Amino acid sequence: MLICSMCGRELSEQEALVHKTEQGEKKIICPACFEKATGVDYKTFAFRKENAKQTLLAVVLCLAGTVYAFVERGPLWGLLGIVLTVLVYLFSSKLK
Ligand SMILES: [Zn+2]
Repeated sequence: MLICSMCGRELSEQEALVHKTEQGEKKIICPACFEKATGVDYKTFAFRKENAKQTLLAVVLCLAGTVYAFVERGPLWGLLGIVLTVLVYLFSSKLK
Protein backbone atom coordinates (compact mmCIF):
# COMPACT_ATOMS: atom_id res chain seq x y z
CA MET A 1 0.00 0.00 0.00
CA LEU A 2 1.29 3.41 -0.96
CA ILE A 3 0.75 6.53 1.08
CA CYS A 4 0.49 10.09 -0.17
CA SER A 5 3.43 11.99 1.24
CA MET A 6 1.47 15.22 1.40
CA CYS A 7 -1.91 14.33 2.89
CA GLY A 8 -1.17 10.84 4.20
CA ARG A 9 -4.02 9.18 2.33
CA GLU A 10 -3.65 5.57 1.34
CA LEU A 11 -3.39 5.11 -2.41
CA SER A 12 -3.90 2.27 -4.79
CA GLU A 13 -1.11 1.73 -7.27
CA GLN A 14 -3.04 3.25 -10.18
CA GLU A 15 -3.79 6.38 -8.20
CA ALA A 16 -0.31 7.05 -6.94
CA LEU A 17 1.64 9.72 -8.80
CA VAL A 18 5.31 10.48 -8.61
CA HIS A 19 5.90 14.16 -8.21
CA LYS A 20 9.33 15.69 -8.51
CA THR A 21 9.76 18.66 -6.21
CA GLU A 22 11.83 21.72 -7.09
CA GLN A 23 14.63 20.25 -5.00
CA GLY A 24 14.62 17.19 -7.27
CA GLU A 25 13.13 14.90 -4.62
CA LYS A 26 10.68 12.29 -5.76
CA LYS A 27 7.49 12.02 -3.78
CA ILE A 28 4.50 9.74 -4.00
CA ILE A 29 1.36 11.82 -3.96
CA CYS A 30 -2.33 11.48 -4.72
CA PRO A 31 -4.03 13.24 -7.68
CA ALA A 32 -5.61 15.87 -5.40
CA CYS A 33 -2.22 16.85 -3.98
CA PHE A 34 -0.75 16.82 -7.46
CA GLU A 35 -3.32 19.41 -8.40
CA LYS A 36 -2.46 21.48 -5.35
CA ALA A 37 1.29 21.20 -5.97
CA THR A 38 1.29 22.00 -9.67
CA GLY A 39 -1.92 23.97 -10.19
CA VAL A 40 -2.89 21.57 -12.98
CA ASP A 41 -5.12 18.58 -12.51
CA TYR A 42 -3.51 15.31 -13.44
CA LYS A 43 -5.76 14.58 -16.41
CA THR A 44 -4.88 17.91 -18.05
CA PHE A 45 -1.24 17.25 -17.29
CA ALA A 46 -1.38 13.76 -18.78
CA PHE A 47 -3.24 15.08 -21.80
CA ARG A 48 -0.62 17.75 -22.41
CA LYS A 49 2.13 15.22 -22.01
CA GLU A 50 0.44 12.90 -24.51
CA ASN A 51 -0.05 15.82 -26.88
CA ALA A 52 3.61 16.78 -26.65
CA LYS A 53 4.56 13.19 -27.40
CA GLN A 54 2.38 13.15 -30.52
CA THR A 55 3.82 16.47 -31.68
CA LEU A 56 7.32 15.12 -31.27
CA LEU A 57 6.42 11.98 -33.21
CA ALA A 58 4.87 14.02 -36.03
CA VAL A 59 7.92 16.28 -36.22
CA VAL A 60 10.32 13.34 -36.20
CA LEU A 61 8.34 11.67 -38.99
CA CYS A 62 8.37 14.87 -41.02
CA LEU A 63 12.09 15.26 -40.51
CA ALA A 64 12.69 11.69 -41.63
CA GLY A 65 10.54 12.41 -44.70
CA THR A 66 12.53 15.58 -45.30
CA VAL A 67 15.85 13.76 -45.21
CA TYR A 68 14.45 11.11 -47.54
CA ALA A 69 13.11 13.74 -49.96
CA PHE A 70 16.40 15.62 -49.83
CA VAL A 71 18.43 12.53 -50.65
CA GLU A 72 16.05 11.01 -53.21
CA ARG A 73 14.59 14.06 -54.91
CA GLY A 74 17.06 16.85 -54.35
CA PRO A 75 17.40 20.03 -52.26
CA LEU A 76 14.16 21.64 -53.47
CA TRP A 77 12.07 18.76 -52.11
CA GLY A 78 14.14 18.81 -48.96
CA LEU A 79 13.32 22.46 -48.50
CA LEU A 80 9.64 21.67 -49.01
CA GLY A 81 9.95 19.02 -46.31
CA ILE A 82 11.45 21.52 -43.88
CA VAL A 83 8.60 23.96 -44.53
CA LEU A 84 6.12 21.14 -43.95
CA THR A 85 7.87 20.13 -40.73
CA VAL A 86 7.71 23.69 -39.41
CA LEU A 87 4.03 23.91 -40.35
CA VAL A 88 3.25 20.63 -38.58
CA TYR A 89 5.12 21.82 -35.52
CA LEU A 90 3.36 25.21 -35.42
CA PHE A 91 -0.01 23.61 -36.05
CA SER A 92 0.32 21.04 -33.28
CA SER A 93 1.66 23.48 -30.73
CA LYS A 94 -1.33 25.70 -31.47
CA LEU A 95 -3.69 22.86 -30.59
CA LYS A 96 -2.50 22.95 -26.99
ZN1 LIG B 1 -2.54 13.65 -1.06
